[in-house]
Amino acid sequence: MKQTNVIQDSSGILGIFGSENAANSAYYGLHAMQHRGQDGVGIAVSNGETVSCIKGLGLLSETISSASLQDLKGSIAIGQVRMATTGDSQLENVQPIMVRAHQGHFAIVTSGMITNAITLRNQLEEEGLIFQGTSDAELIAHLIQIHPGKFVDKIRGVVQMIEGAYNFMIATRDSLYVMRDPYGIHPLSMGKSEQSMIFSSETCSFGILGAHFEREVNPGELLCLCPDKVESIQLVPAHKETTCAMEYVYFSRPDSIVNTQTVHEVRTRCGEALARQEDVQADMVIGVPDTATSAAVAYARVSKMPYEIGLMKNRYIGSTFIRPTKQQRQEGMRVRLNAISSVLKGKRVILVDDSIVKGSTAKRLSVLLKEAGAKEVHLRIASPKISYPCLYGTERTRQEELAAYNYTEEEMCALFQVESIRFLSLEDFKKCIPDTSCLACFNGNYSAKLCDYKKEIKE
Ligand code: SF4
Repeated sequence: MKQTNVIQDSSGILGIFGSENAANSAYYGLHAMQHRGQDGVGIAVSNGETVSCIKGLGLLSETISSASLQDLKGSIAIGQVRMATTGDSQLENVQPIMVRAHQGHFAIVTSGMITNAITLRNQLEEEGLIFQGTSDAELIAHLIQIHPGKFVDKIRGVVQMIEGAYNFMIATRDSLYVMRDPYGIHPLSMGKSEQSMIFSSETCSFGILGAHFEREVNPGELLCLCPDKVESIQLVPAHKETTCAMEYVYFSRPDSIVNTQTVHEVRTRCGEALARQEDVQADMVIGVPDTATSAAVAYARVSKMPYEIGLMKNRYIGSTFIRPTKQQRQEGMRVRLNAISSVLKGKRVILVDDSIVKGSTAKRLSVLLKEAGAKEVHLRIASPKISYPCLYGTERTRQEELAAYNYTEEEMCALFQVESIRFLSLEDFKKCIPDTSCLACFNGNYSAKLCDYKKEIKE
C-alpha cells in the first residue's frame, strides 16, 4: 500500500505556572529546546487580567529581544519552538495562537499532530468558521470556542473529537491547562522549582530554571492549574503508552529523561550493542555531532578503537540556513559541519550516525570525510533500518523516499560511497529502550486507532 506524506512535528512546548517573571523563565526554558525547532518561536504570558504574546519566525535569540520580554509581565507563560514543514512556515502558524473571544482571552500551543484535523477543519469551514493558518493549535482554539461550559468542559469536549498524537497547553488570564494525548507518543514532563511548576516537552528545560524533574504527565491526563487549586484529571482513558523511540535516537537532547530513561544512557547502550556486531578493524571512530556522539564514544570503548573528533559543528548559525527546502537543507549541512583533514588523512574511519531516513546526509558526510583525506569510511547506524513512514506526525518522509525501503545494504554502500554499512538490529535496539516505546517506523506495527489516519490522508 502506498503511504502518504504526513506533517512532521517534533516542536517543543513549555508551560510555566507561578513564576515571578514567567516570560523570562519561558525564554530560557525554550532556549534549552531550540534543537526541536528553529523556524518559529513564541511566548504568551498571563497577568491575571489578560494574555499577551510575542512571536516570530526564526531562532529565539533572533526573534525575542530582552526589551520585548520586559513588556510581558505575569506569572503564567506558555511557549513553543516550532519545526515547520515546506509551505507551512508562515507566521500564522507560529504559536502561541491567540484568541480574544467574548468568553475571555486565551493562548494555545501544541506539539504532535491531530490525525483527523482535515475532517474537523472541513466541518468547521462548512459552518462558516475562518482559519488564518493551518496549525492544529488554531483548530483546537476554534473547537474550544464552540464547546459550552467551563474551560475543563470545553477541553473535555475537544479531546473527545480529536485523534492523534498531540500535546497542548492553554493559558487563560489566570490559569494554565496542560493536556497529553492518550497514547503518550510525544514526551511531556512536569518539573518543580521553589516558586513554580514547569511543563516541558523535554526535561532539559528544567535545569536552567532551577527546577527538578517531578514526573511525566500521564497519557490522557489534563492538569488544571487555577488560582484556587491544582487538579489532575484523567480526562480520557490512557492507551498502552507508546513513547516515540526516535526521541532516544534523534529528537531529544542527551541530558533529557524520556519515559524514565536518560537519552544519553540509551544512546550509549545502542553504541555498545552496535560495536558488539563489529568485524571491521579501522584506525578511529568518529561520531556525527551531536546526536551520535554518545553512541560513538560507547562504540569506540567497546570496539577498543580510538575515538577522535573528525567532524566539527558550527553552532552559531541562524535559521536562514536551516529552512526546510532540499537545497537549503543541503546548504545548511555544508555550513554546519566541517571535517578535520589532519585527523582523517589516510585513515580508515568508522563513522557512527544516529539514523538514516532518506540517506542524503549519509552520502554528503561520506564525501566530506573522503575529501578531507579519509581512506575508508565504514558507516555504522545506532538504530535499526527505518522502512515505514510515521503516521503519528513525528517524521514526514514518505515510505517511497526511505533509503532502507528502497535499497539493500550493498546498494546503500554504492549510493553513499562508503566501504561498508551496518545498522543496529531491531532485537538489540529493543533491549536498549523501554518496552513501551513506539517502533512503528522500524517494524510497521502501528497502534490500531491511529491507523484511521491512513484513510484520512489517502490520496
Ligand atoms: Fe516515532 Fe517512528 Fe513511532 Fe513515528 S513511527 S512515533 S517516528 S517511533
